[in-house]
Amino acid sequence: MATRYEGGCLCGAVRYVAEAEPVNQRVCHCRLCQRAIGAAFNARVLFRADDVSMTGPFATYNSSTDLKRGFCPTCGTTVFSARDSAGIMGITTGSLDDPGLFQPTTHFYTASKQAWLHLEDGLEQFEDRPPG
Ligand SMILES: [Zn+2]
Ligand SMILES: [Zn+2]
Repeated sequence: MATRYEGGCLCGAVRYVAEAEPVNQRVCHCRLCQRAIGAAFNARVLFRADDVSMTGPFATYNSSTDLKRGFCPTCGTTVFSARDSAGIMGITTGSLDDPGLFQPTTHFYTASKQAWLHLEDGLEQFEDRPPG
């Protein structure tokens, strides 16, 4: 049985559930994620978009033509990023009810990693997009 990933925004208006095997679990250090999340990096669990059930009045903003960011229009929490052309949706791990479910394997776009942050967790790293 797949793990149940459940969470939502700060005010509780936007909620999601995904009971599926994630596509991958990675931390993105690109500048677009940093700005969109308003934090040093975007730790996210990636799912097939079909596996995520998102409820509530979320809004989206396209940070690039092919990538939209989903957030709560009331409290502003960034809940997901989605690439419709690939059918994938990345859930922000800070929005998980149980952030301990996050099991990252990889850091990517480390070329734009914030300078104060030292990655000493032994996970694989890629300066830009991971292969595959
Ligand atoms: Zn909210
Ligand atoms: Zn990114």
